[in-house]
Amino acid sequence: MTATTLESLHDKIASCTRCTFCKWVPEIRSEAFAEICPSVHYGKFFSYTGGGKLIAAYALLHQRTEYTEAFIDNVYSCSMCGGCDTSCKTLFAEFVEPLDSLYALRRKVTADGHAPAPLRAMLDHLRHAGNALGLPESRRADWFAGLELKQTAKARARCLFHVGTAAFDADEWPSLLFVCAELARRGVDFAVGGADEPDTGGFAYDVGDQELAADLARRTAAWVKESGADTLIVYGDDSFSAFRNIYPRLGIALDGVEIVHVSQWLAQNLAAAAAQPAPELVTYHDSCRLGRLGEERRPRQAETVVVYNSLPALRPTAELHLGVQGVYDAPRHVLEAAGAQIVEMERVREFTFCCGAGGGAKEANPAFAQAAAVHRLREAHRTGAETLVTSCTACARHMKEVAVTEQIPIAVVGLVEFARSRQAAPSLTPAAEI
Ligand code: SF4
Ligand code: SF4
Repeated sequence: MTATTLESLHDKIASCTRCTFCKWVPEIRSEAFAEICPSVHYGKFFSYTGGGKLIAAYALLHQRTEYTEAFIDNVYSCSMCGGCDTSCKTLFAEFVEPLDSLYALRRKVTADGHAPAPLRAMLDHLRHAGNALGLPESRRADWFAGLELKQTAKARARCLFHVGTAAFDADEWPSLLFVCAELARRGVDFAVGGADEPDTGGFAYDVGDQELAADLARRTAAWVKESGADTLIVYGDDSFSAFRNIYPRLGIALDGVEIVHVSQWLAQNLAAAAAQPAPELVTYHDSCRLGRLGEERRPRQAETVVVYNSLPALRPTAELHLGVQGVYDAPRHVLEAAGAQIVEMERVREFTFCCGAGGGAKEANPAFAQAAAVHRLREAHRTGAETLVTSCTACARHMKEVAVTEQIPIAVVGLVEFARSRQAAPSLTPAAEI
């Protein structure tokens, strides 16, 4: 396993200039929606930015600070959305690597026993039950109870449908079954894992337990290999990000397996819905995990050059991680095929604004997650759209709840749910409620 530690990142952390570019989207369209960082939106002080957290990490590394309530609040009022990383690299320089440092900071805080109690409990559940909710693993198969689907425990298949934590969410079951029906309709030889499917380890990595993350990732890689599949269709944005962004950090590869997000498969295979007399106005929320954190992580290569006759600088010899290689077009194609007319928000694609649900932030600090979602929903509402669609089940669940409690008049719908509701009825029926 390749650990991301504060010690190994010392020089990168020290190279943060406190320029504060990591607060903002590079192309500001209005004062109201100029921020890229939900943490500083919530905390208001520079210390809450990516750069501020790097300074906290530097102080910790040099024993110039100790753990206080405010310190922990700062570290975990953050959804690990990577906005700071993208803005820092786009507006300032490629060598600071804020997101790597945030992973390392959380690793240190967790190892020292200071992760917030709800997150420590979830890590314990992952360690002992195999999932962060602490549910019996057998319940991963409840969503297809009574249906004859090929399962990895009994048979091999060319394609594996990875469902992730959606297996525990009864609201997602009709959409999971819809995807299965579409796969079957297209004659795809596919299997599902059911109780056999391990957690990806992505959540553990975000929270700060990299060793647990590596253990779960190794189990997942072995499960994929044993299935014989050469294609992995991934339902969850967090799982997609784990495979593309976290596994390379852990040095774990799914060799010979193509990772395809469900929106990419649907964009290629879904029949267009019947034309509507008046297309529904929809705005699309790019989730961080499918977008900038869905970009494949490749080892960065750079050579050192001297500029102005004195300053050493790194010149990249390979593509930078600017977030542009995330999945942005496929979900929009799915929406259009389902008859929607898209009106875009101000912050889109790699410069999206996170809804605040990810990285354990919602469990560690619900007030932070609420503030981020309110801000994003207001931006969505300003477009004039009737509906906000997102591919991420966690974003959809979180923003649905907040739209109701804050009375923001916009419907929030998951991408597959949206596509399903505008297609002919699927041939599979949902199982009983969990
Ligand atoms: S992390 Fe990057 S953008 Fe933020 S203050 Fe430091 S150098 Fe500037
Ligand atoms: S990861 Fe996201 S929430 Fe955390 S500091 Fe960076 S931009 Fe802010």
